Amino acid sequence: MKVMKFGGTSVGKPERMHHIVSLVSKETEPVIVVLSALSGTTNALVEIGELIAKGDRHAAKLAIDKLEKHYHAFIKDLVKDKKAVDKAKAIVAEHFEFLNIILKISFSESLNKDILAQGELLSTKLFCVYLEEQGIEHALLPALEFMSIDHYDEPQIGSIKVKLSQLLKQHKAKKIFVTQGYICKNSRGEVDNLKRGGSDYSASLIAAAINASVCEIWTDIDGMHNNDPRIVKKTVPIEQMSFEEAAELAYFGAKILHPASIWPAQQYKIPVKLLNTMQPKARGTLITEKAGSVGVKAVAAKDNIIAIRIKSSRMLLAYGFLRKIFEVFEKYRTPIDMITTSEVAVSLTIDNSTHLKEILKELEPFGTIEVDKNQVIISVVGNEISKTEAMVKKLFGSIMNIPVRMVSYGGSPHNISLLVPAEYKNQILQQLNKGMFGL
Ligand code: ADP
Ligand code: ASP
Ligand code: MG
Repeated sequence: MKVMKFGGTSVGKPERMHHIVSLVSKETEPVIVVLSALSGTTNALVEIGELIAKGDRHAAKLAIDKLEKHYHAFIKDLVKDKKAVDKAKAIVAEHFEFLNIILKISFSESLNKDILAQGELLSTKLFCVYLEEQGIEHALLPALEFMSIDHYDEPQIGSIKVKLSQLLKQHKAKKIFVTQGYICKNSRGEVDNLKRGGSDYSASLIAAAINASVCEIWTDIDGMHNNDPRIVKKTVPIEQMSFEEAAELAYFGAKILHPASIWPAQQYKIPVKLLNTMQPKARGTLITEKAGSVGVKAVAAKDNIIAIRIKSSRMLLAYGFLRKIFEVFEKYRTPIDMITTSEVAVSLTIDNSTHLKEILKELEPFGTIEVDKNQVIISVVGNEISKTEAMVKKLFGSIMNIPVRMVSYGGSPHNISLLVPAEYKNQILQQLNKGMFGL
């Protein structure tokens, strides 16, 4: 059995959904199709939630109506047969009625998660209506019945495995299964999600849970590129990379993959393929335990980084100092991305500012604290890059005009990270493209 995940742009137009059905129905082995919301929907739902939270119900109502119109236009071209049209209309009516009811209820964070879930619920149900119209046997597996996270927001892989296999057993003869990406239930039994871009994570978790032959992530580009195509003009796809390399790139900003989406596949040794819905024949990127080649593969940028420097002469020859600092971050469940130390100072970075105030307050007794907001981490990723001849020279030689605030080298043999002020992001990505890849 395999997993095929299709992102927002891959399902965003009726003809794209038709195209996906033609791709899926060509499969010889059973497949679990994981779908995102239609492109733009989750952004619209985020906006609706924010407007309701602000108390601007009029604007929220306008945004709901605008989105509903979009769905009416979508189903018009999705299905033709009267029975299918009526069914699609009823689905749209049901979900927009729900949003309109929410307008009248007082706002809460858990209600907001219900709002955000509507996108994936709609896309999967409409997809199934089209499958039915085409006479293609299938079963919808509701993600809210098997996908769950614990009270630390970590997926419960054991329980996902059990529940999903029970659901699959109910449809033994079927070959096409459809489910929602992104959405899940939390430890309080409420609707929740795996954070923005989380459908990749759902796909990888499902692939791990069913021990899939492959986890295919279908998107709008022909695989992982060597640099961010949204910023750099000339980028090229990478044919093969290791789980470690892919995980570093995803974590450090390559938007094509959700930051946490690699570990489930890696842990269960499921190959991941990144494929292009618009060019299904393109090679894409294969991610397995094998890196394929040694050397620099790609560069990525992670935004909204905060650097914290703690200066203290008490650090000199002391032990236990770092532990005490780390404990502060642990207490506020705030991950540290980069860290560098000198004899009298330690610099580290975080991207989650939720508890920044409290963290800084607790760090005060340790020494003088300096905070630099608006930084980006630029990661240069590749198999055993530190062994690559002249790599460091090439890297720094190509960015001599850029002020580098921190460097992290040697933490993993696959990554060198640089911290630079955000205003240099585009420039450094472009210069590295030339300097490291000759593009
Ligand atoms: P989906 O909706 O299918 O999940 P995303 O928008 O989340 O798609 O991810 C695909 C996008 O990721 C591409 O269109 C591309 O602009 C962006 N991207 C950023 N960095 C990279 C990279 N290194 N390689 C490929 N795509 C990247
Ligand atoms: N629809 C969700 C989002 O836009 C999840 C996803 O597309 O992966 O973030
Ligand atoms: Mg995505």
